Amino acid sequence: MAPPGEFLRFAPVVVAPFIGSFLGLVVRRLPVGGKIVSGRSSCPHCGKTLSPLELVPVVSWLLQGGKCRGCGAPLGSFYPAIELAAATIAVLAVLLTDGSDSAWLACGLGWTLLTLSWIDAETMLLPDVLTLPLILAGLMISIAGGGDSMLASGIGAVLGYGLIWAVARFYAWRAGRAGLGEGDLKLFAATGAWLGWQLLPAVIFISSVLGIVAALLAMALGRRMSRETRIPFGPFIAAATWLGFIAEHANDTIATLLPSTLGF
Ligand SMILES: [Zn+2]
Repeated sequence: MAPPGEFLRFAPVVVAPFIGSFLGLVVRRLPVGGKIVSGRSSCPHCGKTLSPLELVPVVSWLLQGGKCRGCGAPLGSFYPAIELAAATIAVLAVLLTDGSDSAWLACGLGWTLLTLSWIDAETMLLPDVLTLPLILAGLMISIAGGGDSMLASGIGAVLGYGLIWAVARFYAWRAGRAGLGEGDLKLFAATGAWLGWQLLPAVIFISSVLGIVAALLAMALGRRMSRETRIPFGPFIAAATWLGFIAEHANDTIATLLPSTLGF
């Protein structure tokens, strides 16, 4: 039998699909102001109460063939997709980081960023109820760490907001329209709080590259883009921030593969 330490190491992977299921509720209900605590308990089409077995992430969806047992309405792929995404984050966190504490922190950060990205992609909003606690959590974790990390995190939060604010203002002045929203600035503040100010340039660079690649891909796939097309930037900031956290807390095997030029 595996020692308890080994089990704890993989615990994030075990709970991740259930967390993903909850994150799905947050994504669906937070932007419309619905209650989250009540849970997903019935079919939205026929009102059939779901059995405990029908609430098991991913597996239940596969067993039911993606359809409601009561009315046959398609369940959609949203819940299995976000459950799998949450599980993927946990697997990567466990495999790539340098220990149990780092893995749990990578999961907490990753799951919050996943939720924010999904909401931003669907509604172009990054809700304060998620970004502000994320900033606070980053600051508190580095206060617990003490010393240099505390200062780096505080400067990072201020600089993350302020620097991007200045860039956004400059862009708005040159282009005559806003390129980044208030939510993007708060998300960059969270980036600074979690990673420290030193990694901000790398995250800004990587998120911009990801955004440009995504826009080019969308155009290649036939989507029309003009100067007026609005693209949610949150998912790219989120991806770059998470990569930055993984890089900062990478285990020895992964650390040797990272380019030192990006400041990792
Ligand atoms: Zn139904």
